[in-house]
Amino acid sequence: MNILIFGPNGSGKGTQGAIIQKKYGVTHVESGAIFRKNISGGTELGKRAKEYIDRGDLVPDDITIPMILDRLKEDDCKKGWLLDGFPRNQVQAETLHKALNEASIKLDYVVEIGLDRQIAKDRIMGRRLCVNDNNHPNHVFIDAIKPVEKEGKIVCRVCGGELKTRADDQDEAAIGKRHDIYYDTKTGTMAAVNYFKNVPGPKVITVDGAPPIGEVSEKLMAHLA
Ligand code: AMP
Repeated sequence: MNILIFGPNGSGKGTQGAIIQKKYGVTHVESGAIFRKNISGGTELGKRAKEYIDRGDLVPDDITIPMILDRLKEDDCKKGWLLDGFPRNQVQAETLHKALNEASIKLDYVVEIGLDRQIAKDRIMGRRLCVNDNNHPNHVFIDAIKPVEKEGKIVCRVCGGELKTRADDQDEAAIGKRHDIYYDTKTGTMAAVNYFKNVPGPKVITVDGAPPIGEVSEKLMAHLA
């Protein structure tokens, strides 16, 4: 099963992605996580991408597109993938569509998680990342996934690991920029969403990201099954 998942930063896209990955055994390919791994590993790619990410800008297409297309060619993607964070603009959408057609790879689902911009912003500021696993959701304002306290420190509710914030999550200007890009229907991510909603083949699933995590995932699963 090959799935594209869209949603503004803060919509719960990563959390729902982790649930889908677990249930269907697909490989979760997350563009932002690949960049962050490269930044913490001090790679050349990470060095090139960091300044854009810190500002909330998109990393240029000539870096991002080959990185993702190469990733989809790796062995673990043969069992199916969930692509998260890509495509984020019209050019990326068209390039991905062409590459999938050329490789005769079927796209099964296009998932869109909708969320109001202000709610999305509040959610971003409260999220925390587990240093052990990117798929351990933690959020200081959401009871269901609140981190736990251990020896006076808040730690991951799943594994007790150390929690970090993303630099671009605490910067309101960067959040604003990321949302400007997402909600832009002309050249931004909404253009990519609309592009893939209209290509022949995949089933389109649109869910409201406002309800609690369990409710959103139930709705999603009902459509994916
Ligand atoms: P995310 O974790 O999806 O919020 O991504 C974090 C940051 O990585 C974004 O704000 C961008 O700077 C960069 N990024 C992730 N995916 C893409 C993409 N498809 N194209 C360009 N930049 C990206």
